[in-house]
Amino acid sequence: MRMMIEAHLVDDEGCTERVQLSAIDRESTTDPLGMSLAEGKALLAAAQHHLVNGQCQGIASAHAHCEHCGARLGVKGWHQRQIRTVFGLVKVQSPRVRHCRCSGKATGASFSPLTQVVPTSMTPELEYLQVKWAAHLSYAAATALLSEVLPVADTISVSGMKRRVRVVGAALEQAVGQHACATADLLQFKEPAPLAALAVDSAWLRHCDPPRHQGRHVNLVAGRACFEGGKSRLYAYVHNQVPSAATRLDQFLTASGVGKDERVTIFTDGAAEFEKAVNGTSRPICRILDWFHIAMKFRAIEQTASKHPNLLTPNGRGLCEEIASCKWLVWHGKASTAVARLKRVYDAFGVIPQDQFWTLWWNLGRLFWYLRSNDWYLVNYARRHHKGLPISSAIAEAAVNEVVSWRMAKKRQMRWSDEGAHLLAQVRVHDLNGDLHPRAFAVPLRPPKPLHDPMEDAYLMRMAA
Ligand SMILES: [Zn+2]
Repeated sequence: MRMMIEAHLVDDEGCTERVQLSAIDRESTTDPLGMSLAEGKALLAAAQHHLVNGQCQGIASAHAHCEHCGARLGVKGWHQRQIRTVFGLVKVQSPRVRHCRCSGKATGASFSPLTQVVPTSMTPELEYLQVKWAAHLSYAAATALLSEVLPVADTISVSGMKRRVRVVGAALEQAVGQHACATADLLQFKEPAPLAALAVDSAWLRHCDPPRHQGRHVNLVAGRACFEGGKSRLYAYVHNQVPSAATRLDQFLTASGVGKDERVTIFTDGAAEFEKAVNGTSRPICRILDWFHIAMKFRAIEQTASKHPNLLTPNGRGLCEEIASCKWLVWHGKASTAVARLKRVYDAFGVIPQDQFWTLWWNLGRLFWYLRSNDWYLVNYARRHHKGLPISSAIAEAAVNEVVSWRMAKKRQMRWSDEGAHLLAQVRVHDLNGDLHPRAFAVPLRPPKPLHDPMEDAYLMRMAA
């Protein structure tokens, strides 16, 4: 059998034109069942070709007369334009039309109606698809995937996709600074849920230029804000690409609908790395020492203590029992008592412990100092846990994994420039947060330069909508 697929193009006057889109032959019993991917792609490309050409002819004829006086406009000439769409590259004939005398323009001045209506050579949807997939796969893999399922093999390229991501990333980056306040109102946070916790962590990626930057890595910081009710939002940046980490944090919280006076609970692991990301923020911050790090330090002591089951502590209890009791106290917000008791056990080993107790003594000292130097950040973990609030910075590690691991990880032998990683991270977090929409690309994207470009503002407003 042979299946002929035709399209009927009906114009405004009701005149119908029939065009053949595709013919599929199935003659022998060994032929594949149904339409193949290649046949489907060819069919879609053919349909797209006729539709785009029909629309462009409509645009040209709508500009055949002056919209003020109705006089017929002269055509200066025709040129070919290529429009890249999700269903392939379409070549269309585009007229240059002379301005009407009534417009007051210089004699001979002309314009292209098609360029006014379709300013870019790529449809927003194709732009969106490229950027979205490049946020999740390598540029080469994303190009190959799109080319395999859509008739776009001659339409997109690895270098073009890379360029798109940088342009969109740069536009999003500028949106972070300029429109943090505006977007908060426009996003879905009409009645934002209270912020349950925020956690920040960082990862190191390989630098793309090792000969010039020996041993240098790209420091990517990622954070996650968890809201009561279970929603969460991510943010990420490369450290040397932002003027201030604290400002970045403020902008992210504002854009996420967190009020300026709302208290922000942040998990810390006591490391300097973390301080770098939050120091200097203008918001009221409540720090909580990460329970995971405390539990790990207790675990190390429990393991060494179990080798000495008969050891008694100064208060006459078994060592394991005493350690378990101290852990219970820290969990229930009575850390000062636990610290005092741990100190007593630690001191009981003397200034220089016997060799067999050295590891135990060292672990005890480490935990005791850790709790004492961070005692401002200890809370009643049991109560938080019962309320369903986070108690651990595991949410930050998960955030870093989500932003970095799959797309940018060291394991995949990818190398990054600071700027490239930063811009891709912007695209990736926007997509992971669900803020990347095809309609955001409706205005042509150019690398943003001027601070108040009306074109850019219009794009940013759409981005937020
Ligand atoms: Zn006119």
